[in-house]
Amino acid sequence: PVQASEEYSGHSLALEDIVHHFDDMVALQDIHLNIQPGEFVSLLGPSGCGKTTLLRIISGFLKPSSGRILIDGQSVEALSPKQRGVGIVFQNYALFPHMNVWDNVAYGLRANRFPRGRVANKVGEMLELVQLGHLAKRYPSELSGGQQQRVAIARALAVEPKLMLLDEPFSALDKNLRLDMQIEIRRLLKEQGITAILVTHDQEEAMSMSDRIAVMSQGTIHQFDTPTQIYDKPATLFVSTFVGTCNLLPGKLVERDTSDCLVEVPGGGQLRVANYATLQSHNDVLVAVRPENLRIQTQPGKHCLPTIVEMCLPLGAVMAYEVQIAPNTKVKVTQPRLPGTRPLQQGQQIYLELVSPQACALFPAVS
Ligand code: ATP
Repeated sequence: PVQASEEYSGHSLALEDIVHHFDDMVALQDIHLNIQPGEFVSLLGPSGCGKTTLLRIISGFLKPSSGRILIDGQSVEALSPKQRGVGIVFQNYALFPHMNVWDNVAYGLRANRFPRGRVANKVGEMLELVQLGHLAKRYPSELSGGQQQRVAIARALAVEPKLMLLDEPFSALDKNLRLDMQIEIRRLLKEQGITAILVTHDQEEAMSMSDRIAVMSQGTIHQFDTPTQIYDKPATLFVSTFVGTCNLLPGKLVERDTSDCLVEVPGGGQLRVANYATLQSHNDVLVAVRPENLRIQTQPGKHCLPTIVEMCLPLGAVMAYEVQIAPNTKVKVTQPRLPGTRPLQQGQQIYLELVSPQACALFPAVS
C-alpha cells in the first residue's frame, strides 16, 4: 500500500453564507459548511436541489452571487480552479480519447511543466495506486467503465489537489462495480489524506462513503452530520423522509412530563415518545418513525397501537409488513426474520409499540 506522503496533509474548506441566483431564481441560499482536512463529505439531495451548482462554486467554475470560500482559512474567491488546486472527477470521466492511459494521467503534470523525470515517476506511482500499470498503453475506448473511472481518479490525483471534487462519478457503473469502486476510491482518498466532496443523489452511496453528509433540498442545507446521526436523528421532516424509509403519523400531544410525552395517533392509540423541547408550542405534530423502530406484540399493552396486518412481504433477512392503524392510515413495519418462525397472517390483529421513546422524531404538523 502507498503511504500518505507529507505533501498530502489534508486541507480544510469553509463555505460562509453562500448565496447564488440564476437571474431571479434562487439556486442556493444560506450555505454554511466547515469541512475538516482529510474529511470525505457528500452533498446529497434530489435532482435540482443545487448540489452541482455548489460544487461548481467550490471548484471556481462559477462565481457565487455572494458569500466566502476559504481553503485552509484563506479566501479563494479571486482564484481560478487551477489556482485553487481542486481535482475534479466527472460522471462521464471526461478522459481524452486520443491519448492512452499514461498520457491521460500525465496531462496535468505536463501542462504544469513538470520535469520529464518527475512526470514519469508520478504517473507510475498513480497507475500503481489505481492498479492500472499494466494497461498504461491502452486507449480509453479499450477500457471498462470501472477502469476508465480509475484513470480519471489517477489523473485528478496526479497533480496533488488540495480538494477532490467528485460529481456523480459512479452513476454510469453497474451495481456491483459501483460498490467496489466506492470502497476503493474512499480508500485511495483516505490513504492520501485528501479532502473530498462527492455530489450524489444516491443515499446508500452517501451513507457508505462519507464521514459527514450535507442533505440538501431547494437550495439549502437541511442537516450536516454523520450518516448515523442523519438516519437516527433527522433534523427536518424532509431529511426524515428523503433518507431511508419513514412512517409519518399525524399526532396530538396529550400529556407531557419532564422526560417523555404522550402522542395520540389516528385510531386513538397513544405512543410514549421522548420529550422534544423544540415542540413546546405545538400540539399538532408529525411522528416520524422508521419501520424497524416499531415492535410487534401479539397482546395489547400500555402505549401499544392496535392494528390489523394488511400485507406481508418476506424480504430475506427481514419480514416487511403493512398494517392499518385507522381507516386510511397505514404503517410499514419490518422485523428480523428468524428461521423457523411463522410470518403474521393477513387480517391478524397485532399491537405496535416504539422500541424506545427515542426511536422516532417529532416535527410540527404541516398544513
Ligand atoms: P441534479 O442532481 O439533477 O444534477 P442538482 O442538485 O445538481 O441536480 P443543480 O444543477 O445545482 O441541481 O441546479 C439547481 C437549480 O438551478 C435547478 O433548478 C436548475 O434548473 C438551476 N440551474 C442550474 N444551472 C443553471 C443555469 N446555468 N442557468 C439557470 N438555471 C440553472
